[in-house]
Amino acid sequence: MPGQTIGKHAIVIGAGMGGLAAAGALAGHFEQVTVLERDRLPSHAVPRLGAPQSRHLHVLLPGGQRALSDLFPYFEQDLIGAGSVPLRMLRDFRMEIPGVGALPQRDFGWFLYCGTRPLIELITRRQVERLTNVTIRQGCAAFLLTAAFDGTMVTGVICEDADGEDETLAADLVVDATGRASPTLALLGSTGQKHPEEIVIGIDLRYTTTMFAIPKDRSTEWDTPADWIGVGTWPPAPDRSHAGYLMPIEGKRWMATFSGQNGLRPPADPEGFLCYARQLNTPTIYNAIKNAERTAGFERYFLPASIWRRFDRLGTFPRGLLPIGDSICRFNPVYGQGMSVAAQEARLLNQILKGRAAKPDPLAGLAAAFFSKSLPIIEGPWNMSAVPDLAYPDTRGDRPPDFEKHLQYNRALFKAAILHADVHRRLAEVQQLLAPPDILKTPYIEGLVQMELAQMTSNPRRLVQ
Ligand SMILES: Cc1cc2nc3c(=O)[nH]c(=O)nc-3n(C[C@H](O)[C@H](O)[C@H](O)COP(=O)(O)OP(=O)(O)OC[C@H]3O[C@@H](n4cnc5c(N)ncnc54)[C@H](O)[C@@H]3O)c2cc1C
Repeated sequence: MPGQTIGKHAIVIGAGMGGLAAAGALAGHFEQVTVLERDRLPSHAVPRLGAPQSRHLHVLLPGGQRALSDLFPYFEQDLIGAGSVPLRMLRDFRMEIPGVGALPQRDFGWFLYCGTRPLIELITRRQVERLTNVTIRQGCAAFLLTAAFDGTMVTGVICEDADGEDETLAADLVVDATGRASPTLALLGSTGQKHPEEIVIGIDLRYTTTMFAIPKDRSTEWDTPADWIGVGTWPPAPDRSHAGYLMPIEGKRWMATFSGQNGLRPPADPEGFLCYARQLNTPTIYNAIKNAERTAGFERYFLPASIWRRFDRLGTFPRGLLPIGDSICRFNPVYGQGMSVAAQEARLLNQILKGRAAKPDPLAGLAAAFFSKSLPIIEGPWNMSAVPDLAYPDTRGDRPPDFEKHLQYNRALFKAAILHADVHRRLAEVQQLLAPPDILKTPYIEGLVQMELAQMTSNPRRLVQ
């Protein structure tokens, strides 16, 4: 329940991961928060129409887990109670990187709780339902933002409610968590305001996903340390984009997702799927699934591009409106960052609102403050995912001038991480969104990377392992 509030009513459009986290952030600052969701929300962990990606592998990185736990104190406890599989990073996770090798499975002492996206979302929704001043209205589609005539101030939302009736809701703040920023872009367009510049990396990413029962001998092994519980086989870019991920989920199952980019389409039939597994850079996943019982059909997904809408570069932005999550930036999902970034943005929003509570007009300039402070949350993951995607010649997007050097540097960094546990830990913290990339910029780490770079130049075979 709110203490000192800064407004009467806030509306969140969308009850996906970004919208739910935002509702948690707003609950302490507004008398009432309403979440509008066009879907009927399932009472158990099953995929739904408005989040078609929920049929595919979703890893909640420790950085996102921490942000959700900061917003919702029972989040982790409830996720564990709901049957998610604890995976000790990186001891239980085998990360296979072509040109580098399998990273050592060192135990850094933090856990990833693995489950399906519907389970993660359901547990997050349950946290929001505990907040007595938040109402989730399902089957309720927002179709227009109401605003002052010149569009400089948003005053509410017109939605179609569950009975098909139009309704106008007034609000001091509207958070656009629709995943596509459609309400925000429509308002900017209809009131003659500038649309944000979009940075687009055209990846033409295709996913195929299915599930397997984890063979008995493996599941009993979990009581004692096994070789690995989850595995990721990265693609040998730029030659081929075949990638595979096998992660445990609730119900003693593995979710297997294969991806391909720029025209490569992982098959969606039993033989083709296994054949694709054989084409991965290592036989690890093929060996794990070749005799495993498949428990689901095949699901496909196509994502043409990663998109970053640079709201931060607009000089002005309507008061009372804030996009969040995928509405700002949609990442290539193979790096598992989207939910975590959305959760970290929501945690930031909570901090910003706390800091503004005593101001005479706390909502003035909120969007500008949020956009500038959320830049580091987005920039690190964006660089980690978009830059490697540009390694494929067919990927559309602007390559930085020192692109080749950047790729070589990254390979050398991974090599240094294999050799030095302290470098590995820092690299893992950055990849898991627990720390910003700056923690890798120390003279010690840069020195080790330079040594690796020198070795790679004098002996290029070190790259091919
Ligand atoms: C194939 C795939 C795999 C992914 N894997 C991962 C992963 O491993 N790890 C990870 O962290 N992220 C992953 N992501 C990204 C992740 O799904 C998103 O980043 C995350 O869901 C962002 O949440 P969001 O709330 O911004 O958008 P969404 O989760 O898409 O939610 C938007 C919600 O808004 C609702 N909505 C839309 N329009 C309206 C309207 N007009 N009125 C009312 N409601 C509306 C929709 O029904 C939906 O519920 C993956 C994405 C894809 C496509």
